[in-house]
Amino acid sequence: MPVNVSAFMPAELNLVLVGPPGAGKGTQASRLVKDFSLPFISVGDILRANVKEGTELGVKAKEYMDKGELLPDDLVVDLITERLKQPDAKEGFILDGFPRTVPQAEALEKGLTVSGRKLTAVIVIEVPDEDLIERLSGRRVNPTTGRTYHIKYDPPKHEGVDDIDGTKLIQRDDDKPETIANRLKVYHDQTSPVIGFYERQNTENKALVRRIDGTREPDEVYRHIRALVATVRLEDTL
Ligand code: AMP
Repeated sequence: MPVNVSAFMPAELNLVLVGPPGAGKGTQASRLVKDFSLPFISVGDILRANVKEGTELGVKAKEYMDKGELLPDDLVVDLITERLKQPDAKEGFILDGFPRTVPQAEALEKGLTVSGRKLTAVIVIEVPDEDLIERLSGRRVNPTTGRTYHIKYDPPKHEGVDDIDGTKLIQRDDDKPETIANRLKVYHDQTSPVIGFYERQNTENKALVRRIDGTREPDEVYRHIRALVATVRLEDTL
C-alpha cells in the first residue's frame, strides 16, 4: 500500500523575529536561513538597498531611517505582502523587523489568513537597553558587503577596514547616539505592544511567542533558537 508521504511532511515554517535594534536578529536569522533553507526577509535590508539605489521608496525611507523613526505602515505592509507571495517563501520565511507596530501585525495576520497560512512562532530576542546602546554605538559596517564588526567585541584586524576586502568600514547613520536613543524609544512605544498582540494568541497547548535571552554569546543564543525552531516544527506536524 502506498504510504501517504504528505502526512509526514513538515508544515510551513513561518517565523517572525522580534527584538530591539541591536538584539542580534540579523545575525541569528542568517544562521537560521542556512539551517532551515528559508528566505530571510528583512525590511531594514530591503529599505537600505532602496536607499543605495536611490529609488523613490529609498529617498522617502531615508528621511525616516536617519531619524530612527518608522516608515508609515502602509508602505512596509505592501512591501512585505508582495514579498511573501514570491515562490521562494512558499515553504516558509523568516521575517526580521516586521511587524513593528500592532497595525502591521494585524495586516500580516490578515494577509496570511487570506492565503490559508499562519505563523509558526514569534521569537522574541530580549536584551536590556544598556547592552543595546553599547552594541549599536560600537557597530561598524562594510558598506559594500554588509559585513559587520564591533569596535570592542569583534574588531577588524586593522582598525577601520574590512578583514576580507579592505573596504573602509563605516558607522550606519542610524547607529549614531541620538538616533539610537530614538530607535529604542520607538521600540518600547510601538513594537513592544506587538508582543502582547501575539501573546494573546498563545493557547494552553501552544505558545506562539517564545522568548530568548539575547544577552548570551551569539553561538549560545543560536543553539537555543535552533532547538526551539526544531521543537515548534515538530509540534506543528503532530
Ligand atoms: P532595522 O535595520 O531593522 O533596524 O531597520 C532600520 C530602519 O528601517 C528602522 O529604524 C525604520 O526606519 C525602518 N524600518 C524597518 N522595519 C520597519 C517596519 N516594519 N516599519 C516601519 N519602518 C521600518
